[in-house]
Amino acid sequence: MMRSLFERNIRDLKGVGEKRAKLFEKLGAPTVGALLRLYPRTYEDLSRPYPIRLAPLNEPCAVRATVLERPKETRIRAGMMICKVTVTDGESDMELTYFNNPYIPSMLKADEEYVFYGKVTANFLKREMTTPEFVRAAVCPPIRPVYHQTLGLTSRMIENAVKSALDLLPDRIRDPIPEAIREKYGLCPLRFALENIHLPQDMEAVETARKRLIFEELLILQLGLLRLKGRSRSISLLRLDHDCSERFYGLLPFEPTQAQRRAVKEAIADMMSGFPMNRLIQGDVGSGKTAVAAALCCCAVENGMQAALMAPTEILAQQHYASLSALLRDTRVALLTGSMPAAKKREILQGLLDGEIQLVIGTHALLSENVAFRRLGLVITDEQHRFGVAQRAALASKGDHPHMLVMSATPIPRTLALMIYGDLDISILDELPPGRQKIDTYAITGDKRLRAFRFIRKHIDEGRQCYIICPMIDEGQNDMASVNEYAEKVRTRWLPDYPVGVLHGKMKPKEKEAIMTDFARGNIAVLISTTVVEVGVDVPNAVVMLIENAERYGLSQLHQLRGRVGRGKYKSTCILISDAQNEETVARLKTMCATNDGFQIAEQDLKLRGPGDFFGHRQHGLPELKIADMVHDMDLLKEAQSVAREILSMDAELESPQHRGLRAEVKQLFENRAD
Ligand code: ADP
Ligand code: MG
Repeated sequence: MMRSLFERNIRDLKGVGEKRAKLFEKLGAPTVGALLRLYPRTYEDLSRPYPIRLAPLNEPCAVRATVLERPKETRIRAGMMICKVTVTDGESDMELTYFNNPYIPSMLKADEEYVFYGKVTANFLKREMTTPEFVRAAVCPPIRPVYHQTLGLTSRMIENAVKSALDLLPDRIRDPIPEAIREKYGLCPLRFALENIHLPQDMEAVETARKRLIFEELLILQLGLLRLKGRSRSISLLRLDHDCSERFYGLLPFEPTQAQRRAVKEAIADMMSGFPMNRLIQGDVGSGKTAVAAALCCCAVENGMQAALMAPTEILAQQHYASLSALLRDTRVALLTGSMPAAKKREILQGLLDGEIQLVIGTHALLSENVAFRRLGLVITDEQHRFGVAQRAALASKGDHPHMLVMSATPIPRTLALMIYGDLDISILDELPPGRQKIDTYAITGDKRLRAFRFIRKHIDEGRQCYIICPMIDEGQNDMASVNEYAEKVRTRWLPDYPVGVLHGKMKPKEKEAIMTDFARGNIAVLISTTVVEVGVDVPNAVVMLIENAERYGLSQLHQLRGRVGRGKYKSTCILISDAQNEETVARLKTMCATNDGFQIAEQDLKLRGPGDFFGHRQHGLPELKIADMVHDMDLLKEAQSVAREILSMDAELESPQHRGLRAEVKQLFENRAD
């Protein structure tokens, strides 16, 4: 019964016609159920309206007053009507102004009392409000929801649709959270939560509803995550017998850092434990995660297992392939990417199947159905935030509970990482290889561009190389020249006679590879690129990173980009060009100039953009959340995690009748993510 209502098309609602239904669909609410999950952004508290004289100035508030006389309309110029309304609370008067709204005179009636909501301003002694919202006092709800208005759907339209949806709710609806859990954690029933998140009687009811909905969302998330890695308790058939990391260190052209040694040791202990490893390695750009991955691949192979390393881009996969196959001479290493010729691919697939290939490095191509292994023992995902949890699980499913390692440069505070990744173990590379010099960072405006290019020329003349990041191709936004146009300017004006290469996401993989190889070999002095070079590419001879339109990027992304230089023995510089004046941008660029510490930058990013945004950019590869905020709702996250564990320990497949609702929700949350 309830299912069918939630699944009903939005068109079935009173007042939602064909056109509006289309807008709701675009907003992600094609059904009644999805509409009820479009939660308000905030609320207007109308429960205690002020008299005019006591209303606070310049902040949103409710004022109760009576319309004195019929509103007066004046045409101030062609196409511009102004409507003035005087209202009174018996003691003081106030003037309201509306623009171009022909309905005001018929909606605001003389002698009728209303509650107005908006900002009160003072014009000498006179109080005024401009375009306040209003409701007749006699029917004024205590609290009014405010929805994000987009796509031509106003908050009021959404509110009305939600009202008709709530009217249709039967008295008893099935609640995905079992009653026993609701009781234990003081959570209200679903029906109460839906009614009160949308049309509450008071703010206390909103809090009650919010708590329940946040808990529900986090519980579903945790159930999904724990189930994806449900193997964690299963006995591993792929036990590591001997640790050959010392032998591996002997192959390296450098001494491993203490942090690298520690991470390798922890991972090896996992793999020897008899249970599958499930570990996250977090390390700032340049901290040397690849060497850790290589050490573990080497050990896995020595112990007779196959290992797979998955990277988010073709360039990165190629680079890992080049460095690992050079390092692990005795290992049969192969590269598998989408762009390879079919015959070559077939050969590699065969090699993986019969165990001939011991280590495979690849892109998403590794996930394809026809990839099968003989004895897949170790799965490593580089730059894990580029992949969804489901994709990681897909690779793991190609073996029998293989050991899993994910590597990330996105610094998430440790406690938070523990929470969102379920019971993943974490190693942190908190030390950079020795001899690294701080990358000097400067933020400049566009009028200093010529000086920046003089600086670049000087370095090229000394034999070094440079990156220039310019806006995405096809973005087509006003002043942002496309890469090619920009490259033309560099070639003809700023760096004539220097070998310049261009790299962007729209190029064929083969072309990208050719350019990247040329750059790595030093045949190209300046690489003009979109953010495709953001992850992992390693050219130690590159010493200047110039970023155009720096305001377009988040702090963490700028940090990743900057991490492309300063990878060798030369002093490196990052130049951020931006003409943006707004405070937030200025603060962001200042942070970049002030510190090289990725964790500090992530924290600042959190502060400046807020957790919603930080996590909204899918830096974690998790499904998007509608109401929970993983930073602020940490306590509920912990509770939800322990409840999820408890539930799964009794009913791993969520098959019992009381868990069926949860099972459906988990399925939906993890299917809805667009990868
Ligand atoms: P990331 O953690 O960003 O993936 P990489 O693994 O690409 O970093 O390593 C960055 C650079 O540092 C590479 O050129 C690598 O060879 C070098 N490197 C890694 N570990 C060490 C070390 N212990 N000593 C010196 N150089 C190292
Ligand atoms: Mg890397």
